[in-house]
Amino acid sequence: MPSKTSTLERRHFSAAFLLPVVLALGITAVATLGFVLWSTASIDQRSLERQTKMIHEVMDARRARLIHELASVGVWDDSVVNTRLMFNFNWVHINLGTWTQEFFGHHQTVVFDGANRPLYMMRNGNAVDAEAYARQLGPVQLLVDRLRALPHILPPPRKPSEPRALADFAVVEGVPALIGAMALVSDTGAITQSPGTEPLIAAVQFLDGNAAAHLAREYRFEQGRFSLSRTDDPGRAVYPIFSTTGRFVAFFEWDRDRPGLMLLLQTGPALVAAFIVAAILVLLLLRQLRHSSAALDAGRRHAEHQAAHDLLTGLPNRTSFDVELARILAERTGPDANLALMMLDLDRFKQVNDTLGHQAGDELICAVGDRIRAIVGPAVTIARLGGDEFVMLIQERDHGTTLALATQIVEAIGQPFDLRRFRAHVGASIGIVHASGSNADPQELMRKADIALYEAKAGGRNRAVVYEEHMNELLQLQHTIEEELREALQRDDQLSVVFQPLVDQRTRKVMGAESLARWHHPKYGQISPARFIPVAENTGLIEVLGEFVLRRACELGATAPGRTIAVNISPTQLRNPRFSSQVFDILSQTGMRPGDLELEITESILLDNEHLSGQNLRAFRAAGIHIALDDFGTGYSSLSYLKRYPVDRIKIDRSFVSQLADGHVSVAITQAIVSLAHAMDLAVTAEGVETEGQATILGQLGCNTLQGFLFSGGVPAEQITAIFADMANAPKDVSTEAVPA
Ligand code: C2E
Ligand code: CA
Ligand code: CA
Repeated sequence: MPSKTSTLERRHFSAAFLLPVVLALGITAVATLGFVLWSTASIDQRSLERQTKMIHEVMDARRARLIHELASVGVWDDSVVNTRLMFNFNWVHINLGTWTQEFFGHHQTVVFDGANRPLYMMRNGNAVDAEAYARQLGPVQLLVDRLRALPHILPPPRKPSEPRALADFAVVEGVPALIGAMALVSDTGAITQSPGTEPLIAAVQFLDGNAAAHLAREYRFEQGRFSLSRTDDPGRAVYPIFSTTGRFVAFFEWDRDRPGLMLLLQTGPALVAAFIVAAILVLLLLRQLRHSSAALDAGRRHAEHQAAHDLLTGLPNRTSFDVELARILAERTGPDANLALMMLDLDRFKQVNDTLGHQAGDELICAVGDRIRAIVGPAVTIARLGGDEFVMLIQERDHGTTLALATQIVEAIGQPFDLRRFRAHVGASIGIVHASGSNADPQELMRKADIALYEAKAGGRNRAVVYEEHMNELLQLQHTIEEELREALQRDDQLSVVFQPLVDQRTRKVMGAESLARWHHPKYGQISPARFIPVAENTGLIEVLGEFVLRRACELGATAPGRTIAVNISPTQLRNPRFSSQVFDILSQTGMRPGDLELEITESILLDNEHLSGQNLRAFRAAGIHIALDDFGTGYSSLSYLKRYPVDRIKIDRSFVSQLADGHVSVAITQAIVSLAHAMDLAVTAEGVETEGQATILGQLGCNTLQGFLFSGGVPAEQITAIFADMANAPKDVSTEAVPA
């Protein structure tokens, strides 16, 4: 399920990379934003503090300036003269009223006499009745009182003639205002007044729109405004103005200068853009990373697949099969959960490989895998253990079904394979083991399946065999068979030779016999040559064994001239350069006629390019010894090889004969073999004839000689001699037999 894996992978990637990176990005973004906001706020805060300090200083300066302004008229001999000595309305109106209002922009000007009575008053440029307005001048009156209360003896360095003045903030007629008062004194010292009796001048300057506009202009307090109530607009700064006596007078508010915010507004978009670019870059990098990590993962998976699978067939290999088997066995719910192991080995695969080439061998292996899969279906685990060995793990319903399935596989593999350039025939042997409760060790199961497979091969190949306990013992014997055989060859009570009659097809007369080795083991009983001949071949014991059989055969042949005595010859023997002289020695020692001897060789010798085999064969033929090609049809079965190593006879393998029945394809095959053989002047023997029906068909096909249990199995020498002696089996000239009827 690729979609599931990829989601899992994506999840894994998200957890491993995406999440931390996005988290880091997020944290960076939040931290940056926090820092920017914090520094913006602190810049703004500092600016506010600076502006507040400035307004504070400006307000102080305002009071000082008002005193300065009053001093410009208050410290003047003329002022004292025109108010105190003789009240001159006109002079006061022009020089104290009009002048201060026009020049300094004071809104109200009041002149008091020494007893604090208002003498003169000007409001907004007009002289008004001072007495009438006096009632409204409370704050001014209070200031005047405070001025009067100031100590008359001033601390040094002030001189008595220096102006005495006060300025303060107050609410006048409901409007916040700056008010000031000053004693009118002589500027020259020419007029002396007793302290506390000086006339006074007072001024009111409203903190109105103009004053605010002035502050805005001069000190950049944008949208400045005096008001009596506090604004709650966060964009506005507020400075409360108090009188020097601590009474609240007014708020001055203005648009806060926010350099931090400005900076933020100007750099913000660039910052955001930079962050977005960074985020995109990081995401692109992540994407790249994900792609490469996906590629890496795919590579790893591919490598894992390669390591777990057979490259040729794509099937699981031995390693992964072992793992799977161990897993399934471990997961088994109980001993009754049925499981079967099927081990399959191809018969004659080596020949295909050797004769048709490795390319064809590879194709064949793949085709075999496909055929098995087609039969067992997708649920069964098939693995290739290597070479031409396959193994299947079957969750079986019952033992019978498994065996039937195995038989089906054997039959399917037995059908010819159409490869790209060739047609190949192979067979299959299968070993089956059923896993029961005590049978659950994976290695043990494999070993037992292997034993059953061995048994299937020993039993004549092309079959399925179910493992049984006694096979194990036989296998144990196999290990000791070499030693046992070595010993048997040195004694004369275990090995023997039997002879199986060869029957003329037309006359049904016994015209000869095939020599077959027999081994009667004191402990294991009869041991099949199929079991010990291969051991003998592999260990070199075949030389001694072969000589033993040959000698027995020739001894019989010497007593029955005119009868064909056949002897099976192993490739190992034929490759021995001394083999032909050995045969001739035995012939002369026993007195047998070379023309009565027939050596049975297998096809593999023909494929064998060895010079020595060819030399031996030619020597035999030159001496009149006949050569028969044994087990014909099971190997590559190419008659073209017969030209290279001419033989006299072919023996059609019993696996064909056993299938002979009306309408069966093997009839056509046998027919073709017989026709071809006869066309090449070769006699044909059919071996393994067990029924009269087979004998009849073989007769119709033109087979020359028949051999099989229908007539007789292998019999001891004395018995075959008796058969030969039977008048019904009078000898016949073998040389004429090869000519087809
Ligand atoms: P093979 O050369 O094909 O010998 C014929 C085998 O078929 C014999 O098995 C024989 O008993 C068996 N047979 C005969 N008639 C019938 C029949 O009607 N039905 C069936 N099913 N089988 C039949 P055996 O004696 O077990 O020999 C097996 C193989 O061992 C022989 O096959 C041969 O290849 C080899 N062998 C036997 N003796 C010798 C020997 O002295 N030297 C060598 N090199 N090989 C030998
Ligand atoms: Ca034979
Ligand atoms: Ca044979």
